Amino acid sequence: MAVPVDDAVSDAPKHFCGIVAMAFNSDVKYDLKKALRVIQHRGQEAAGIAVYDGKAIKYVRRMGLVHEVLAGPEYDAIAGNMGIGHVRYSTTGSSCAQNCQPIVVTTNVGDVALGHNGDLVNSTKLRTKLQNDGWAFLTTTDSEIIIRILATELTQNPDPVKAIRSTMKCLDGAYALVFAIGNRVFGARDPLGLRPLCLGKLEKGYSLASESAVFDILQGEFVRDIAPGEIVEITSKGFISHRASTPAHTAHCMFEWVYFARPDTIMDGREVYDVRKKLGQVLAHEQPADADVVIPVPDSGRANALGYAQESGIMYEEGLMKNRYVERTFILPEQAKREEGVSLKLNPIRSTVLGKRVVVVDDSIVRGTTLRKIVQMLRRAGAKEVHVRIGCPPVIAPCYYGIDMKTRDHFIAAGRTFEEIAELLGADSVGYTSVKGLQSALGLSEQDLCMACLTSEYPTCVPGEKMRFQKTLI
Ligand code: SF4
Repeated sequence: MAVPVDDAVSDAPKHFCGIVAMAFNSDVKYDLKKALRVIQHRGQEAAGIAVYDGKAIKYVRRMGLVHEVLAGPEYDAIAGNMGIGHVRYSTTGSSCAQNCQPIVVTTNVGDVALGHNGDLVNSTKLRTKLQNDGWAFLTTTDSEIIIRILATELTQNPDPVKAIRSTMKCLDGAYALVFAIGNRVFGARDPLGLRPLCLGKLEKGYSLASESAVFDILQGEFVRDIAPGEIVEITSKGFISHRASTPAHTAHCMFEWVYFARPDTIMDGREVYDVRKKLGQVLAHEQPADADVVIPVPDSGRANALGYAQESGIMYEEGLMKNRYVERTFILPEQAKREEGVSLKLNPIRSTVLGKRVVVVDDSIVRGTTLRKIVQMLRRAGAKEVHVRIGCPPVIAPCYYGIDMKTRDHFIAAGRTFEEIAELLGADSVGYTSVKGLQSALGLSEQDLCMACLTSEYPTCVPGEKMRFQKTLI
């Protein structure tokens, strides 16, 4: 699947969201903006920051890319030494201005701002309860549920750590959170570690972010991942860790390494690029092809294709030219636009594929729309054979944890054999990395990974779905 701007042409599921937090000895606003630009690939629909200016939390948030939202008089008017930021792609809650983040509310301990990445699986129950208690919701997001619970907890107990801990006990599902509570900044990660969050040290203070690449690009240091079930407070001088729960197992989302995160990010101890290259090596071993050349779907399949070429000994070449300058208006969800976008975005390099048996590699495939177009293009450019190889096992089940793949009907692999998929794509053969192969490339046990969209076994209780073995001690 394709990288952020390639959403213009991709049938890939959309990213969830990205979050950052900073506590400095000087204004954080410029660094929050820079950090959000580093993780812009995690959400391109809306962006925002909230900073504590010494008296109150001030914020700027709206629909648009980071450089569009964080510019102009509103942005220029705010300043503060601590704050949080968010980029959004809507998963729960529709894509509209009220659902932009950070969400800010006023409580008895002052203003509170929240940035959230992930989806809750018990949001309906929580929303109903809060509505019955008299809350009127302003948005349709899970994130508002979290901040309403936190506000209630803070009313009963003004200690922010205790309030966050109590809030986390109510939540079920995937969440990485950043909070500004008055003049203090916190982060928290769900007890299964479904969504990522890490800690970094920058020149002017400490920071939390969805991806470690933020700290490299801001000339800082990656300190460590926030542990599943951990709450961390950051200050300009350091950080303080608190436990909310002690999980027996984790359930890191495998899709972060396969597709979502930047290749230069280190996530739960594994560099994303390295994992993707290993996936390509495993794929070559498990799904060999008699071929003359290996080409990636740019840019998403590049590390997988490199690994495939290294392991198979088949020459690696660039076989598809990408137009990087297709305008953003192509970021539209309709199928027809996507199909049109593929040909505007990608074009085969004839000399690489003419008369050759081609292996085309991508990192994952959900609907198959883009790959079908690519196979047609390669054949039109004179490829003798086209073999599709995919670095991730077949996606067959919905995600309830913040990835936009909610209906089974869309999955090309659901209920189909590899031969049937090849026929649909118009390819000579199709091969995927196995679930075991994925685990070995990640070096994580089955019990510490979420692979529910591959196996239909969910790490939390989801009505109507099978739950995997899992124990969490709270
Ligand atoms: S179901 Fe799939 S995409 Fe969703 S959290 Fe689990 S591994 Fe990630």
